[in-house]
Amino acid sequence: MDTNPALPGRSLAGPRTVYNSDHEMFRDQVRRFFEKHIVPHHRQWERDGIVPRSVWLEAGAAGLLCPMLSEEYGGAGADFGYSAIIIEEIARTNCTGPGFPLHSDIVVPYIADLASEERKREWLPKMARGEIIGAIAMTEPGMGSDLKAMRTTARREGDHYVINGSKTFISNGQLADLVIVCAKTDPAAGRKGISLICVPAGTPGFTKGRNLEKIGLHAQDTSELFFEDVRVPVGNLLGEENKGFSYLIRNLPQERLVIAVRAAMGMEVMLEKTVDYAKERQAFGQPVIDFQHNRFKLADAKAQATMFRVFADHCLALHLRGELTVELAATAKLLGAEMQNRLFDDFLQIHGGYGYMAEYEIGRAWADARVGRIYGGSSEIMREIIGRTL
Ligand SMILES: Cc1cc2nc3c(=O)[nH]c(=O)nc-3n(C[C@H](O)[C@H](O)[C@H](O)COP(=O)(O)OP(=O)(O)OC[C@H]3O[C@@H](n4cnc5c(N)ncnc54)[C@H](O)[C@@H]3O)c2cc1C
Repeated sequence: MDTNPALPGRSLAGPRTVYNSDHEMFRDQVRRFFEKHIVPHHRQWERDGIVPRSVWLEAGAAGLLCPMLSEEYGGAGADFGYSAIIIEEIARTNCTGPGFPLHSDIVVPYIADLASEERKREWLPKMARGEIIGAIAMTEPGMGSDLKAMRTTARREGDHYVINGSKTFISNGQLADLVIVCAKTDPAAGRKGISLICVPAGTPGFTKGRNLEKIGLHAQDTSELFFEDVRVPVGNLLGEENKGFSYLIRNLPQERLVIAVRAAMGMEVMLEKTVDYAKERQAFGQPVIDFQHNRFKLADAKAQATMFRVFADHCLALHLRGELTVELAATAKLLGAEMQNRLFDDFLQIHGGYGYMAEYEIGRAWADARVGRIYGGSSEIMREIIGRTL
């Protein structure tokens, strides 16, 4: 049996049953798109600190954005499996620049589920075509994990909200045309006073700070955002006022599954590359894989990545049936991110000095993976979520 994870339908744990043949046909299409439109340019985009808008338009035209969005609004009306395939191809090629999953699987679902019909018709078809790029702004300079402590406010004035505050670390922040801003509409009510309000780029008083310099994810733009008396119509509110926190809780499991799916594929692919390197690289007259220490490290890594593949696919299957719980999503994110970081560190070590060179994929993957333990809720917050169920 061929377990090469780079082959469709295969994994370290054997044939994958979570996808059907339509999913795998879609994978072929996604893979061709990545090989042509993304892989050859990604190193340059890392130097630029951002991907060009053109790749968003190309992805939209190729049907790679918003696969789950209903056809009525320009999507494919497909299941999360199609999104997972795009996430896996990002991990397989280690091309982490295009923020497609954030846009398609995190931002768009809020708008599709909670915006007014008028706003859906205005924004969603353009989001599916890549003409409007989305972002979500929860984190502020003074808080990230503790959402109820956010200080950005949205004050109701007639038919408008007036937003004041600032956000930071916002992915797609430079490119974003539409930002879901989390703000307090009832500052005295803690988490029960948070609302989600859409703010289009170009609205007076809304400014973007610099593209933040990061230690990894170099092709992904990440920004500070500033709001000074920004007036948006009340029609830009998502769902009901003061219910924002419950909407975030409802959607965060999918965001966490995105991170787990990426980790599972990343571990399989980087293991394979490291094994290839270790077979080729000679030290003391033998391939470095022939040193028992390295072989055992790789054997442990293979065992762990195999186990995580089974669990990640289990969570993916649950999510496809609408049964993924907050707790299991947190478990998948915690295990995936922590294991990926441990394994990538060992893989880098086995590459020796070349592992530290940016031209070798493992070094970049190692730096990119580090944030998995921080964003989407840190590992400590995942433990809190799991701990509450004990
Ligand atoms: C590259 C990147 C992209 C990002 N993209 C986005 C985005 O698009 N939108 C967005 O809104 N945010 C985004 N973030 C922000 C990210 O979600 C936050 O950084 C994260 O939630 C942690 O918040 P913080 O940085 O404020 O850390 P803090 O909350 O200040 O935490 C500091 C440390 O304390 C720990 N800690 C906090 N609370 C507890 C607790 N109760 N128990 C134990 N330990 C605790 C944390 O785990 C962490 O180790 C991004 C961050 C990065 C780095």
